[in-house]
Amino acid sequence: MQKSYREELVGVFGDPIDENPTVILEQAAFQACQLNYRYLNILVKSEDLEQAILGMKAMHMKGINLTIPHKCAVLPYLDGISKEASIIGAVNTIVVKDGKLLGENTDGKGFLTSLQENDITVLGQEIMILGAGGAARAIAVELALAGAKKITIVNRSRQRGEELTTLIQEKTSCQAEFLLWNKTISIPEEINILVNATSIGLFPNVEQKPDLDESSLRPDLIVCDVIPNHPRTQLLKMAEQQGAKTIDGLGMLVNQGAINFQLWTGKKAPVEVMKQAIQKEFGLEESL
Ligand code: NDP
Repeated sequence: MQKSYREELVGVFGDPIDENPTVILEQAAFQACQLNYRYLNILVKSEDLEQAILGMKAMHMKGINLTIPHKCAVLPYLDGISKEASIIGAVNTIVVKDGKLLGENTDGKGFLTSLQENDITVLGQEIMILGAGGAARAIAVELALAGAKKITIVNRSRQRGEELTTLIQEKTSCQAEFLLWNKTISIPEEINILVNATSIGLFPNVEQKPDLDESSLRPDLIVCDVIPNHPRTQLLKMAEQQGAKTIDGLGMLVNQGAINFQLWTGKKAPVEVMKQAIQKEFGLEESL
């Protein structure tokens, strides 16, 4: 067969987009699997989203990730949407199949995979989620659909917190309650899994930690953080000191990238290669 100089295109649309690091792990995976694919960070302004989506079709792209501000705005341009993305109300990945655009949300699925990798079951568990933004929404819906017994949403602003709580109550069979985060919170005994899904601790604010009672982090609690950089957050360090098992946000980032890779290429992702590439990029090889 003659050599092809054409690359299959995937990437991410967003604004801002320059600092999005997903390209590192996807390119490492394409290279490891010898796939002639290219992942591009593409600046797309809100007012140009429709044209960008049409351009994607015209250029026969295999798919795209969506980030701020397009995750919800893209919904009218899709030909189909997964059940999970439809409940979450946001799409972070489009897969192009037979010229049709199919919307997925892999944020929460990446998180669930991180739990599975650590042999943690969700079925019947009581879970507390800090935050009610995009990441919290995706994680809460996936946990509810995976059979969590009850989810408590803890958020600083009442409106977003109550909205997510109502969404879980109305669209899934999981119980949900809202707790306003206006003072130091203590993690109740019945909670099995605590998830920080806020942006507290994200680089460069690596010294920030959620306002919670450190002594309520018990050894039998599983404490998860979504922050990918730096992944050993103050929360996870506090939890480790109390003997709790911890799950970091780097795993979620890699697993989400791996799911996207599989959706676009139809091949199993080289997860370890992807993880090493992003650790190297973040300068984490020494510190982990
Ligand atoms: P949003 O802006 O949609 O939501 C941010 C959330 O954090 C809100 O609930 C907000 O509360 C809360 N919050 C922010 N600062 C504080 C604070 N000082 N005290 C209390 N609450 C606070 O962001 P996303 O949900 O999209 O992203 C959240 C984090 O998740 C980011 O750091 C992002 O990097 C990470 N993420 C990680 C992924 C991974 O693969 N590891 C994937 C996706 C996201 P309020 O509503 O009151 O403003």
